[in-house]
Amino acid sequence: MTTIFAFIVVAVAVFLLLAYFSAPLVAWTVAAAAGLAYFTFNPLAWGVFVVIAASLNIPFVRRKVFTDHVLAIYRRILPDMTQTEKDAIDAGTVWWDADLFSGKPDWDKLLAVPAPRLSAEEQAFLDGPVEELCAMCNDWQITHEHQDLPPHIWQFIKDKGFLGMIIPKRYGGLEFSALAHSAVVMKLSTRSGAAAISVMVPNSLGPAELLLHYGTDEQKNHYLPRLAKGLEVPCFALTSPEAGSDAASIPDYGIVCKGTWQGKEVLGMRVTWDKRYITLGPIATLLGLAFKLYDPDKLISEKTDLGITCALVPTNTPGVNIGRRHFPLNQVFQNGPNSGKDVFMPLEWIIGGPEYAGKGWMMLMGCLAAGRAISLPTSSTGGVKALTRFTGAYARVRSQFKTPIGKLEGVEEALGRIACNCYVMDATRVMTAGAVDLGEKPAVLSAIAKYHMTERARSSVNDAMDIVGGKGICLGPNNWIGRGYQMAPIAITVEGANILTRTLIIFGQGAIRCHPYVLREMRAAKEMQGAQAAREFDDAFTSHIGHVLSNGVRAWVHGITSSYLAPTPNNGAPELMHYYRFTSRLSAAFAFLADMSMMGIGGALKRKEKISGRLADVLSMLYLISATLKRYEDQGRIKEDLPLIRWAVRDMTYHAQEAIDGILSNFPLKWMATLLRFTIFPAGMSFRPPLDARNRDAAQLVLVPGAARERLTAGMYVSKSESDATGMLEAAFLATVACEPIDEKIRKGLKKGKMVARPGAELGVIALENNLITAEELTQWQRKEALRKGVIKVDDFPQDFGRAQALDADATRPFVRAA
Ligand SMILES: Cc1cc2nc3c(=O)[nH]c(=O)nc-3n(C[C@H](O)[C@H](O)[C@H](O)COP(=O)(O)OP(=O)(O)OC[C@H]3O[C@@H](n4cnc5c(N)ncnc54)[C@H](O)[C@@H]3O)c2cc1C
Repeated sequence: MTTIFAFIVVAVAVFLLLAYFSAPLVAWTVAAAAGLAYFTFNPLAWGVFVVIAASLNIPFVRRKVFTDHVLAIYRRILPDMTQTEKDAIDAGTVWWDADLFSGKPDWDKLLAVPAPRLSAEEQAFLDGPVEELCAMCNDWQITHEHQDLPPHIWQFIKDKGFLGMIIPKRYGGLEFSALAHSAVVMKLSTRSGAAAISVMVPNSLGPAELLLHYGTDEQKNHYLPRLAKGLEVPCFALTSPEAGSDAASIPDYGIVCKGTWQGKEVLGMRVTWDKRYITLGPIATLLGLAFKLYDPDKLISEKTDLGITCALVPTNTPGVNIGRRHFPLNQVFQNGPNSGKDVFMPLEWIIGGPEYAGKGWMMLMGCLAAGRAISLPTSSTGGVKALTRFTGAYARVRSQFKTPIGKLEGVEEALGRIACNCYVMDATRVMTAGAVDLGEKPAVLSAIAKYHMTERARSSVNDAMDIVGGKGICLGPNNWIGRGYQMAPIAITVEGANILTRTLIIFGQGAIRCHPYVLREMRAAKEMQGAQAAREFDDAFTSHIGHVLSNGVRAWVHGITSSYLAPTPNNGAPELMHYYRFTSRLSAAFAFLADMSMMGIGGALKRKEKISGRLADVLSMLYLISATLKRYEDQGRIKEDLPLIRWAVRDMTYHAQEAIDGILSNFPLKWMATLLRFTIFPAGMSFRPPLDARNRDAAQLVLVPGAARERLTAGMYVSKSESDATGMLEAAFLATVACEPIDEKIRKGLKKGKMVARPGAELGVIALENNLITAEELTQWQRKEALRKGVIKVDDFPQDFGRAQALDADATRPFVRAA
């Protein structure tokens, strides 16, 4: 009995070891042979063993008895993909996401990636033209009075090359790195949403990006220099009233036909479209247009339905209707509809020329990742940097119950969350832009960054609005937060609306692209035939089984050992080691859960968006944690920042655990859910939410001036003018902190009865009269008080909001807009 028990213990240990270390099949076979030898040398038993071992170890035999049959079933159940789905799946590259999906992230590889850096030229641009542009922008004037960027700002943007950051120098562009592009958009976002978006859009997915990748030499030579210098204002029109998220279903169409162009009969297309929400559309001179192209007379192709096609259409082309505006939540960046009916245009207007007819979706998907990795993640980070700095300052300047509100625990809690979000977001921004600079087009990571940064911006602005109270609600020149609050849903909706991005794209694309074997299996099943398909499928499928087994065992081992054995980097910061371990454990659990979900739910997983959305949350948390840890390492392990990392990583591991719990509680196969719960949480759900003490430490960092606050909000614009709302707030914050010893003297004087407050009189003056403070201290105190009163001041307007006066002025002064 004891020997049998010992055998079982050894057998289980060997099983765990082999699975844990992903041992090759031959090692499993040797172990099984040893087990059998322990019991018997019976020739029959060994004969059966040899047959089974040979069937599994000899690929040809294995295929015939096993994997060829699986392949046949797989082919039957795997739904056919449309070309648009294929293009979306194939688009972009995978990077760190593949490590997270593997269940064994290679931390040394991540930490060996050099910290992204700006060049001297890029830094000079940020310190020069970007700083200058920020100083020129008065957000209230822009959003309320001009309802547009004023002409001189538009001209500055064009003249300084802001619209050509992604265009190479040989075409007259700035040829900036993704990191620099991101830094510019981020800084502008801390000052003016309209300026940031107007600069962001031409540098994101649109005519320039598409031309760079697919344009003919003639198109590039003509348009890129003009785009770089702002001689053309581009927009890109995909969305139509009937096709928003389901953009591939656009009803807009073109028919290949002959027509007259500049006096000659040429082959062209007659295009009809109706687009809406097009950013920069109302003032664009160059319309990037997506439509479906048909060739009923087979003039250029054997196919009649060519597919989505992208063309560049000068907006002064007869028949193009453009110019009207939408009014997106009080934001005044140019945005509006455009349309055309049977507009004739030459085939040469197709981006890439006629041979790129029908390849528009592939082009769009191919280019989407880089822009999506930068635009919204960056502008959201800019927004949260501004919230961190200004809300922290306000929470120190504004007092209630004789206490700066930032020191009241409830406010502190919200402030701490904002500060930690800021750290995570900037870390993710830099890591994702850095990946683009390494040549990646990170399709899944850019979707994660887009979703989570815009969501974190939304939650941060909600927190900040709560802290700022009525001052944030009443709009006017002194309100530095209201427009940002209004902006939040826009970022959520554009470039892939967030619900869809979370539930369909992140896990849907990730499961196929980032998984080490799924795409290989799919390609073998659908794109290969005969022996090639059988060999490829056999190799991928058997490796896949080992992968699932290994991740399951590792998830369980890490679960019962409190992550003690989970991989860490060789040279990581000692103070972060437990976070690396937690993340490795969660990665193994996620990889196992992802495979079991695909296996258990199958194709229906696509419709089980509540499950796939939670799987996306786990993957996303793993990426955001990775970025946060890397940021700490890259910045030289600055201990002062540790509260931010500690709170944020704890919060994210806890969220990942909650998402896994949510999946298991709602998993359609209850027996499998029980098995999964036992494997992933063998010792219960051990991740705890972050401690309040960490939150307090994080909030403290933004309640005092100092290096940590500067680091956290680095790269943002800080006005030096006290006549500017944020400049005044910054000055009031510094003055408040500097004056605290003086305030303390006054407070003590009052408390001990050494002075008595008189109605209407300044406390500082009374304190001086009572020799509690000096004359210099009074001057300092009075300056602080003037700034403080300025900061808490809220704007008010005439009864009719000045409309009558404005109408009078309008009658004599026509509205002027940028050319
Ligand atoms: C200010 C602004 C600027 C824009 N700029 C441009 C531009 O320059 N060029 C351009 O072409 N377009 C632009 N757009 C369009 C933008 O990309 C679309 O708004 C977006 O694609 C969503 O489409 P929709 O608003 O019609 O929402 P809908 O598609 O109607 O979606 C509504 C909701 O349903 C959800 N949903 C849809 N499908 C699914 C699914 N399968 N699973 C789960 N949830 C789903 C969405 O997430 C969303 O929450 C802009 C939009 C705005 C508001």
